[in-house]
Amino acid sequence: MSDNINVRNVGIIGHGDSGKTTFCEGTLYLAKATNRFGTVEDGTTVSDYNADEIERRISISASLLYFNWNNCKVNVIDTPGYPDFTGEVKSAMYVVDTGIVFINAVSGIEVGTEIVWGYAEENKIPRIVVINKLDKENVSFEKVYDIAKERFGNKIMAVQFPVNEGPGFNSVIDLISMKLLKYKENLSGEYEILDIPDSLKKRAEDMREKLVESVAESDDELIEKYLENDGLSEEEFAIGLKKCIIEQQVYPVFCCSAVSNISVKSIFDFIVKYCPSPFDMPHKVGIHPKSGQQITRKSESGEPISLFVFKTVSEPNVGEISFFKLISGVVKSGLELLNSNQGVSERIGQIYLMKGKERKEIGYIDTGDIGAVVKLKKTHSGETLCNSKSPIKYKEVEFPRPVIRIAVEPKSKGDEEKINIGLALLHEEDPSFMSKYDPELRQTIVSGQGELHIDIIINRLKQKFGVDVNLAEPKIPYRETTKGIAEVQGKYKKQSGGRGQYGDVWLKVEPKKRGDGFEFVNAIVGGSIPSKYIPSVEKGIIEAMNEGVIANYPVVDVKITLYDGSFHSVDSSDIAFKIAASMGFKKGFKEAKPFLLEPVYEVEVTVPEEFMGDVMGDISSRRGKIEGMEAKGPFQIIKAKVPLAELYKYSTSLRSITAGRGIHKRKFSHYEEVPKEIVEKVIERAKKEE
Ligand code: GDP
Repeated sequence: MSDNINVRNVGIIGHGDSGKTTFCEGTLYLAKATNRFGTVEDGTTVSDYNADEIERRISISASLLYFNWNNCKVNVIDTPGYPDFTGEVKSAMYVVDTGIVFINAVSGIEVGTEIVWGYAEENKIPRIVVINKLDKENVSFEKVYDIAKERFGNKIMAVQFPVNEGPGFNSVIDLISMKLLKYKENLSGEYEILDIPDSLKKRAEDMREKLVESVAESDDELIEKYLENDGLSEEEFAIGLKKCIIEQQVYPVFCCSAVSNISVKSIFDFIVKYCPSPFDMPHKVGIHPKSGQQITRKSESGEPISLFVFKTVSEPNVGEISFFKLISGVVKSGLELLNSNQGVSERIGQIYLMKGKERKEIGYIDTGDIGAVVKLKKTHSGETLCNSKSPIKYKEVEFPRPVIRIAVEPKSKGDEEKINIGLALLHEEDPSFMSKYDPELRQTIVSGQGELHIDIIINRLKQKFGVDVNLAEPKIPYRETTKGIAEVQGKYKKQSGGRGQYGDVWLKVEPKKRGDGFEFVNAIVGGSIPSKYIPSVEKGIIEAMNEGVIANYPVVDVKITLYDGSFHSVDSSDIAFKIAASMGFKKGFKEAKPFLLEPVYEVEVTVPEEFMGDVMGDISSRRGKIEGMEAKGPFQIIKAKVPLAELYKYSTSLRSITAGRGIHKRKFSHYEEVPKEIVEKVIERAKKEE
């Protein structure tokens, strides 16, 4: 079987609201893969098909579309733009060979643009850039183009510029064909090809020259030809441009109005001609699942089968649908493959091509193509299936760290198990969402990429598993420790008729450095406590530490020295020494100037400069300490340390302060003393919860 060279796998990425879904709709319409031009407003687009997406008018999950374009099969993954759903973008970047980066001409480069650019960069994905909404009032292609160059470098290179941006926009100068493309007003996406008017000739020639120069400069042979012949032939230019795109030396820029269906045609003509098929890309690297040895796998039909599952959804009446890219070989229904992440066998059921929610069954899929398979029993997103005789495991997707944690509580008693099963399955569908029962806090904590993300998941839990939950503020894992030193006696003596109880210990309580943990020192000399009771003393102390002394939080970073005591030859026992040690520890801990520790997080906020003051003010009001700032293109990055207790729903506040243009990342940093004015409140709350 021949290699499927006529495939392009394209991911549409960008900040929310930049026009990605509308562009996909225009594309399908023009490719005659749908017979109407749906709109986001009416909830009639092919890619935003689930109820949540229609209701909220945003893309929540990546959807797969395909169509034929100039005899080439094009798979398009329309990805969501909101930071809540970046997990979907990350997975898509593992399987596409070209990224179309959407920039909204009205708002320019946004945090979402930065994020997706970074993901494409991490995966070394060739990219083209589309500046959209050029039909809007007061937009400037030139301005956005310059900002993009400033931000992403001189590899950003226009292959078009608009003739009449703003309302009525319908014409672009195409620097590849050196023609003016005048689009029809009937949304057909078709255009008339006209000569470039004299008034724009000089600008077009200068820009074309820059493009040719960049292509020539990327290759020693080409630069020689360029210098010898004072330019490149059409063929040399075409070969050179494709090479530049594959090697990410050039990121071509297009102008677009997705609502008017302007530019779809030239963009996909370009993609099919100049952007890579899976076979133009470097061979995929994985590891042997057992030895860990690196393996390179060619994307060829004759190679052993290997595929990467990048997304799983569960649909009513169908069950699990696993979206995959076939990296090598040919996969057919009925085959038995190895899941190399789990070491289990998996049978391939029916194979489909997906267009939004529409499925078309096909018997097999060839190398490089993207499809879906139903009813895999054990395989999750991010896992590899392969021929068991030639096992290979591809790198798993590294999902972004959660930025929000919320506690969930069942609305009805008895639902706990269903909730846990539901949450676990929802994590498998979307690994950027996590849920975990925290035995210390005695709460189930769900975490994800934002409040909207959690909302959507909880909604799915209700729809798919029929269980409803209340959302609550998660408890904070405070800790207790001491500053001072105390020496105390713990004595437990009970005499009541028969055999009594007797344990007597002298303990010294001392602080240790933060993070040094617990140390127990047995300094008994001369047998004042028989050595057989020493382990019980330590056990008694550890149990008391776990229960906490001042507010029921675990005690950390203390050194306890057992330096004296006494025993009774009949009444002493393990239990008596355990109780005596526990009593002694509690007493000593209270005397050794105890205090509370709270978790502090390292927070990094990225915002457009104009919001910097408001964001910093807000961080200070959350007891945060600003540690530094740095400029990154049009953004400021603010680094701060903020107590976890002040970060509840921070992503939502940040969104409202910055009109949706700020994002943050966080990670645990260290424990720090709870300020005096707050301690009482924490103790009171802990007692109430107890
Ligand atoms: P996405 O979030 O990036 O998928 O963006 P959508 O396709 O959902 O578009 C967001 C909004 O912008 C919708 O209201 C669209 O109708 C509108 N929109 C998209 N493209 C254009 C465009 O080129 N011009 C104008 N004026 N509006 C657009």
